[in-house]
Amino acid sequence: MTINEVDVVVVGAGFGGLRSLYALRQLGKTVQVLEASDGVGGVWYHNGYPGARCDVESYDYSYSFSPELEQEWVWSERYATQPEIMRYIGHVVERFDLLRHIRLQCRMEEARYDEQAGCWLLRCSDGSQWRARHLVLAVGQLSAPKAPQYPGQSRFAGQTIHSAVWPKQPVDFSGKRVAIIGTGSSGMQMTPVIARQAAHLTVFQRTPNYSVPAANAPVSPEEDARVKAHYRQRREQAWNSPTGLGFMPGKKSALQATPEERAQVYEAAWNRLGFGFALTYFDILLNQAANDTAAEFIRHKIASVIDKPELRDKLVPKNHAFAARRPSVDSGYFQAFNRDNVELADVREFPIVEFTEKGIRTTAKEHEFDIIIFATGFDAFTGSLLKPEIVGRQGLTLRQKWAAGPVTHLGIGTSDFPNLFVLVGPGSPSLLSNVMVSIEEQIDWLAALIRHMDAEGVVEFEAEPEAERAWVEHVNERAKETLYLTTDSYYNGAEVKGKTRVFMPYSGGVRGYRRFLRQCAEQGYSGFALRKVPLASQVAAVTEQASA
Ligand SMILES: Cc1cc2nc3c(=O)[nH]c(=O)nc-3n(C[C@H](O)[C@H](O)[C@H](O)COP(=O)(O)OP(=O)(O)OC[C@H]3O[C@@H](n4cnc5c(N)ncnc54)[C@H](O)[C@@H]3O)c2cc1C
Repeated sequence: MTINEVDVVVVGAGFGGLRSLYALRQLGKTVQVLEASDGVGGVWYHNGYPGARCDVESYDYSYSFSPELEQEWVWSERYATQPEIMRYIGHVVERFDLLRHIRLQCRMEEARYDEQAGCWLLRCSDGSQWRARHLVLAVGQLSAPKAPQYPGQSRFAGQTIHSAVWPKQPVDFSGKRVAIIGTGSSGMQMTPVIARQAAHLTVFQRTPNYSVPAANAPVSPEEDARVKAHYRQRREQAWNSPTGLGFMPGKKSALQATPEERAQVYEAAWNRLGFGFALTYFDILLNQAANDTAAEFIRHKIASVIDKPELRDKLVPKNHAFAARRPSVDSGYFQAFNRDNVELADVREFPIVEFTEKGIRTTAKEHEFDIIIFATGFDAFTGSLLKPEIVGRQGLTLRQKWAAGPVTHLGIGTSDFPNLFVLVGPGSPSLLSNVMVSIEEQIDWLAALIRHMDAEGVVEFEAEPEAERAWVEHVNERAKETLYLTTDSYYNGAEVKGKTRVFMPYSGGVRGYRRFLRQCAEQGYSGFALRKVPLASQVAAVTEQASA
């Protein structure tokens, strides 16, 4: 079997993989992208459910590497829909001639580090094999969908769909009785849209979630021109903000403001800022009492749009701090429950007992459905990283190494796995940021590292154990300063049964994170060993000398 040789293999063809391909090709490297599915776009290819759209404004949730691309692409809405984002991805792929470096329907199943040669050997689902100095894992943070297994699930005679494996053919809901299980972002986005089409919709809710209105709107030509005239400043603002969204946290504590002031500030943010609402006061995510003021405002807002009094109490989130789980940015989710054809099934009150041929039986009754949708989320951060067999030094697998939780230096590399780069994974701001900003930041840093390695004749880079211990400790320390640890969420693995509970993303913000990356590079990539000869070859040479 031929082994294909390239400089870099990138696994995954989402926003991260495509950006990696572009940046590394610009360096003059031969790059191969391997993508498991039959299309490019990552989450945007997979999550084609009705109502899917970004929750970061499109002007910010888009590539910044090409001013020409920025100027020529026209977003039609503040928050683009999934089809529009897919058109953007298609445009990028074509404009930068990326497709010919991407192999579709090719799942990387095994990667093994060749310690003597200092390169990775890959085996894929289509039988192809690859050898590359560098391996970039752009496999996504939310790319391993999770679906609960209810008794009798296979008995259901209707159609079941997972929101993250949405069929490529349109699903016709007209006249249908539909169930949505899950009220995270996906469930919240699809509910109002499906409610308008279906005969009847039942939303199964475990945890009521906070949501801030998207205040979505079409982008006028004037608005587009205004943004584009100052696009660089807008990007600078995003890069230098804690979340990559362009918002700076308020300078004041929520507790210093009078109730009247707070009401005014929250009201203004509510109608415009989306996620930025969480930054109106600097301590909303740091201090429970401060958070309570924001949470109380949101609860009041949510309750005020729900007409049915019996639903208010059930839909209003109470048991966790606002934004301690990723909140939604919705377009009419709560209002959808005012419709006569929409019903809430609270599974805390009446748990699901089983699936039947006709639908779902809870402890209260049997609901009959034609279509059941799982909007049940993901095995976040590590799901796709730990699926393939990734074998580093001495047969150590990544699964073994990360058994007690992911360990990285700067969220980028892990010791015993040289020349392995994890993109937007655990230990980096990742899902606590505008992911696009994090992708570009990290990949530009990697490109600079590879340029440095080439210039210095370095063939192997590897996180140092001491550095990764310190980084994990820092990640934990920063998390302890926040309210993120006060609830179960996909940030800490609690959403997946049996998963080690450990806080995964870096909560110190993209601006702070960039400082660490920059410092690391300026200090000659401190915390990473850079070797001109692979460690194993050095050891072999010393052993040979000693025995000679
Ligand atoms: C519905 C939805 C909406 C979102 N909206 C936003 C938003 O508005 N703002 C924001 O900042 N973030 C958002 N996110 C987070 C999103 O994950 C990132 O913004 C970003 O798109 C991730 O890009 P990626 O390339 O890192 O990963 P992905 O887009 O997940 O792409 C990873 C790719 O790797 C492939 N893959 C995985 N394992 C293998 C393997 N072993 N072999 C080969 N291929 C493999 C997968 O098939 C997938 O195509 C959203 C996520 C979802 C699910």
